[in-house]
Amino acid sequence: MHTSGMNEQAPTLRSVTQVIDAQSLLEGGGFPVRRPFPTASLSSYDPFLLLDHMGPVNWPPGEALGAPDHPHRGFEAVTYLLAGKMQHRDSAGNRGELGPGDVQWMTAGSGIIHSELPDPDFRARGGVLHGFQLWVNLPASHKMMAPRYQDIPAAGIPAARNADGTVKVRVIAGKALGTRAVIDTVIPITYLHFTLQPGACHVQPLAVDEQAFAYVFGGELLAGPTETRVREGQTVFFGAGEAVSLAVDKGEEGPVELLLLAGAPLNEPVVRHGPFVMNTREEIEQALRDYRDGVLA
Ligand code: MN
Repeated sequence: MHTSGMNEQAPTLRSVTQVIDAQSLLEGGGFPVRRPFPTASLSSYDPFLLLDHMGPVNWPPGEALGAPDHPHRGFEAVTYLLAGKMQHRDSAGNRGELGPGDVQWMTAGSGIIHSELPDPDFRARGGVLHGFQLWVNLPASHKMMAPRYQDIPAAGIPAARNADGTVKVRVIAGKALGTRAVIDTVIPITYLHFTLQPGACHVQPLAVDEQAFAYVFGGELLAGPTETRVREGQTVFFGAGEAVSLAVDKGEEGPVELLLLAGAPLNEPVVRHGPFVMNTREEIEQALRDYRDGVLA
């Protein structure tokens, strides 16, 4: 296909290097999550530290769980809700209500005490909670930056569609289909939620220095030039190149839902201890002392 008046060369497509199943576990005393990483076999995917697919879980009235006060230092935690209602607060006085489609990009930096609980009314009524939490590492130069919140309501997340309507994307970070995100990231990050209809085919350009992966949470994706099948709950990792191709078989019964994530690796030492992610053992010990002494926040 030629674009009129332009002499474009087709970008080199990234090959599929690996497809893995997410690990299912109960987080925070009973919240069901599916976790592509960290696991015993994959500790991180630089610059990403964790991806949790939360639920979907249908909570009976009064039973929804969350994560009460806990510290963070040295990275960013990004919450993207698809269903339900959460209430996030921190020791800096920030408070965010998250509903379907809302994004909270929380930069812990030098440290906060974080609380992530179901909204009280939602908890009382019960209902479906579904979403994602992604941890993005901070470079050594920014680990002790001032904490920052970016709370973007669903309507504020830019969205785009392709010409024939088979590709819809919500642009949480980075850009796609000519649409740029409103969220500011410390290092360049691409975070895209694609909804692909049967027969869809999309080529997403990405910076060549970025590592990229996609997590499928609905339907079956055909990934990369070999159209490798990636089922719901699986993660596909891509090799080097200029773009990733995402396609859906014409015979697929419904839309395919996926997150596409990319970022340039930091290539720095990672020392993690629960909610603290630093570069050295000494920095972790300092974080533990600061938390114990109440000066982390
Ligand atoms: Mn947290």
